[in-house]
Amino acid sequence: MAKQTQYRVVILGSGPAGLTAALYASRANLEPLVVEGGAGDDPTDVPGGQLMLTTDVDNYPGFPEGILGPELMDRFRRQAARFGSEFTPGAARTVELSRRPFLLTLDEGDVRAETLIVATGARARWLGLPEELEFRTKIGGVSACATCDGFFYKNKEVLVVGGGDTAMEEATFLTKFASKVTVVHRRDALRASKIMQDRAFKNPRIAWLWDSVIEKILGGQGQGVTGAVVRNVKTGKSQQLATGGIFMAIGHEPNTTLFRGALDMDESGYLITRDGTTATNVPGVYAAGDVTDRRYRQAVTAAGSGCMAAIDAERFLSHQVEDSRHPQPAAHA
Ligand code: NAP
Repeated sequence: MAKQTQYRVVILGSGPAGLTAALYASRANLEPLVVEGGAGDDPTDVPGGQLMLTTDVDNYPGFPEGILGPELMDRFRRQAARFGSEFTPGAARTVELSRRPFLLTLDEGDVRAETLIVATGARARWLGLPEELEFRTKIGGVSACATCDGFFYKNKEVLVVGGGDTAMEEATFLTKFASKVTVVHRRDALRASKIMQDRAFKNPRIAWLWDSVIEKILGGQGQGVTGAVVRNVKTGKSQQLATGGIFMAIGHEPNTTLFRGALDMDESGYLITRDGTTATNVPGVYAAGDVTDRRYRQAVTAAGSGCMAAIDAERFLSHQVEDSRHPQPAAHA
């Protein structure tokens, strides 16, 4: 249960963006409330965000030996708590942004927010195979981030699922490590931009499996992924392929349903920020992390934009104080 009914800063989300915003806002004595999220039906929607579902994180600066994703997020959280951030479990169910202070209905009751930082993240799309979640979170060998996990596939053969720019980018990146990368695409034509296609087609380490979908992931505890059953959708024939890892590159979805009609978003639902800041179209509402970033999607970039959002919110609040001290004369009609 939130301790107060009104906060100067409320942060939605507790991934790298939300917790960095909390760190900066609490160090500015703004006593932020962090709504931790992760109360939906999706078992992968957890407080702490996508890093809670990762094992080793080797690309977060400052950890030369690497760190486990959940441990990194625990450190983020403790650092924000140390300076007075307050946390409340569950998600915001409704937000009313037409008037300030904004009204938020949380699982634990209503609170008002003078400023709001939206750091609700994005989720990778997955195939929805019954065994997929276990391979992603417990067994290993299934990932949606080549930048994060590619290094673990040195000299292995891997599959990349998808036919868009992400699939091309991930497949090309993975050839730095893997001995062979096979792109498995459900159609016979790619969706990716021409330039990305050409780069991938020219790469001798990339093979192509057209009109194909993964039906089953094979492997087990201690071995990770060892293979996949792949079906050709045109012939209906299935074959078993040996593989050391599977990268899903079938798109991401930003967690922005709550803000439809209230905040400007692009055609895919990513929040639009302005002028190189984290400001949205509603004064006092800021967006940070993957919810506004379809391009980089890294913990370190999310953390950086969380810092920016806290600074933007702090400046907005101090301008409000200034304005109330020096009210402008009302304009005459
Ligand atoms: P995307 O363009 O939506 O492509 C998703 C791909 O996954 C499509 O080829 C789609 O197949 C396939 N797919 C979707 N659901 C599937 C399923 N259930 N089973 C099998 N295949 C499935 O997503 P994206 O590649 O992540 O790109 C998203 C946006 O980011 C795009 O606008 C892209 O241009 C941009 N982006 C840009 C760059 C860059 O410029 N460097 C890099 C990455 C992404 P179909 O083709 O049959 O629909």
